[in-house]
Amino acid sequence: MKKVKVGILGATGSVGQRFVELLENHKLFEVVALCASERSVGQKYGELMKSRWKISGDIPEYVKDIVVTSPTPSETQGVQIVFSGLDASIAGEVETAYAQAGVHVISNSKNHRMVPNVPILSAEVNPEHLDVLQYQKTPGKIITNSNCTIMGVTISLKPLMDLFGLESLFLFSMQAVSGAGYPGVPSMDIMGNIVPFIGGEEDKAEMEPQKCLGRVENGQIVPADFKMSAHCNRVPIFDGHTVCLSVKLKKKVDSKEIIEAWKNFRGEPQKLGLPSAPANPIVYREEQDRPQPRLDLMTGNGMTVVLGRLRPDPILDWKYVVLSHNTVRGAAGAAVLNAELIVNKGLI
Ligand code: NAP
Repeated sequence: MKKVKVGILGATGSVGQRFVELLENHKLFEVVALCASERSVGQKYGELMKSRWKISGDIPEYVKDIVVTSPTPSETQGVQIVFSGLDASIAGEVETAYAQAGVHVISNSKNHRMVPNVPILSAEVNPEHLDVLQYQKTPGKIITNSNCTIMGVTISLKPLMDLFGLESLFLFSMQAVSGAGYPGVPSMDIMGNIVPFIGGEEDKAEMEPQKCLGRVENGQIVPADFKMSAHCNRVPIFDGHTVCLSVKLKKKVDSKEIIEAWKNFRGEPQKLGLPSAPANPIVYREEQDRPQPRLDLMTGNGMTVVLGRLRPDPILDWKYVVLSHNTVRGAAGAAVLNAELIVNKGLI
């Protein structure tokens, strides 16, 4: 099969580097363009990134000689899909320009997430949301990922909502520094410390789950109607967002039924055997002190959401812990999986 030509927008950033890593030798995609800001344009990726590559392993050979360009359709002709890891200050207008030029955009930025006919696609959770793409007026379509904190949360909630109904939830996040991009939070602010504020994060965390878990009606996504509250915190962890969550369900169930629901959960990516799909989207750890970022983050190559500590909650019904990899399942990995899904469904 001929590979689909793709570009990475924001290829030098935290999320962009993950795209570069995950798209090496990909079965469906060939990276032909890498884009970033003016400070990076015109330089070979390998040279430019020598001191900026922040993930383990070397910069893959296949990108070393690609010259970085600006994220403009005229500079990246021939690409059919762009993966966007652009800073939100620029992502909105750039992604719109690509869609207008007929290029599909798989975005990690917040800018288009709350537009009613733009899906916040989570391939295992809401593949039916792709139906709204036909109502976007541009020849290229925009698909977004949710905020990285919410990604693992919505995956954990999906089987509970389908089987038992969801009434309300409360969450408290402990978010890794890589979630702020590079250089991100100054080391003097975060070492040996916790910062109980992440600009804009709680608003996103309180709006996106309802849309992600919503239903499609008349070409628009109608958000699910549960109430929720989020406290978001930055903690001195490099990768991996941990969320402590309490939930009230519509149906009375016992812990065995909940754990069974998680263990049995599979989505379309698993049924279709998509290249980036983990065998299990959710793993539940029985040990009383798991999940932990150091031990559990790379479960399923960083694509599995790891849960633990399910127990009764004296205020709501149940409480548990969610761990997900913020730049893999929470960003680049989920975006690649979304792109695999649209290719598999013949949407491009
Ligand atoms: P980052 O490390 O700061 O990277 C930002 C990227 O955008 C860099 O490649 C940068 O290029 C490029 N850029 C910035 N200003 C630009 C401009 N004016 N023109 C063209 N390119 C420009 O940020 P990140 O953490 O990767 O996040 C990228 C996006 O993904 C953000 O919208 C973020 O909210 C979202 N996101 C991040 C995570 C995460 O865990 N980090 C998870 C989910 C979603 P230069 O290097 O040349 O400046």
